[in-house]
Amino acid sequence: MILVVNNKASETEINQIKEKIEKMGCGVHESIGLNYHIIGVVGDTSSIDPGIFQASGLIDKIIHVQESYKKSNRLFHPENTEIKVGNEIIGGKKISIIAGPCSVESEDQILSIAESVKASGASFLRGGAFKPRTSPYSFQGLRKHGLELLKYAREKTGLPIVTEIMSTEYLDDFVEDVDIIQVGARNMQNFELLRELGKTNKPILLKRGLCATIEELLMSAEYIMAGGNENVILCERGIRTFEKYTRNTLDLSAIPAIKKLSHLPVIVDPSHAAGKWWMVEPLSKAAISVGADGLIIEVHNDPENALCDGDQSIKPNRFHELMGKLKLLAEIEERKI
Ligand code: PEP
Ligand code: MN
Repeated sequence: MILVVNNKASETEINQIKEKIEKMGCGVHESIGLNYHIIGVVGDTSSIDPGIFQASGLIDKIIHVQESYKKSNRLFHPENTEIKVGNEIIGGKKISIIAGPCSVESEDQILSIAESVKASGASFLRGGAFKPRTSPYSFQGLRKHGLELLKYAREKTGLPIVTEIMSTEYLDDFVEDVDIIQVGARNMQNFELLRELGKTNKPILLKRGLCATIEELLMSAEYIMAGGNENVILCERGIRTFEKYTRNTLDLSAIPAIKKLSHLPVIVDPSHAAGKWWMVEPLSKAAISVGADGLIIEVHNDPENALCDGDQSIKPNRFHELMGKLKLLAEIEERKI
């Protein structure tokens, strides 16, 4: 339930409304814009009689929110959410480019890639330290040592780091060391993990599950936001369909759909969607054209010998060329990179 507050309401009167909501066992989600003041009622509102708010004369309109996601719902927050990470803002005019290898493999590897993607204009460095591999016999990542190497690359290049958390075991290290915590597709519905991340105030990059609907993705964002952490960035990374030619099917329509339903920033991962390096360019261009707020791209200096996802990784020189083209496209969309 959303209460659109009358502009004549005083602060004391607004506080009285908020207290009333809390007394009814619900949460308050306030959003104030240039021309609006909204109080979102979060929780089980089924037994609330809207008349008790209307009687005060302070509420212009009451909107019933049909969807089960509330805090992530655009009705609760009509303006786009902008998430500040260091000196960068995700979800604003700038399209954020996150680039780096699938996994951190060595100091030389991560440093060399970090330096080249930075020189090409990337704003964030990605790299997996804890890897969710289908086979337990595949490379599982350098784990804590990988985190140390990412920190070293950040220190050398100034690029903020994005890396995946797999369980709550190292949560304190992630909160301390990482700039954006990634929740991978396979953990999108690990509700215990989402709940714990909701207790932090770290930006969370939440990837869409392999077979998850848009609504399920938004409900997972809601788990994090319900705990008080509203710094959620959504990521479309392809979903599983009957098509086998590509690793996944990039659901481009999800981007405008999510933008309509939610105020959260949405980025696209063309690398995991396609599974093929030569598709990264066309899918990146498409993502910008449908309104993505950013891209997360796998870049490797030696893809043939990469320990993970070499087939979908582009080389630094290709990334450089791609960035030049994406900058032009961003201008058409009245954005910048
Ligand atoms: C990744 O980003 O390296 C990754 C494993 O992605 P996803 O969770 O989308 O498969
Ligand atoms: Mn990967």
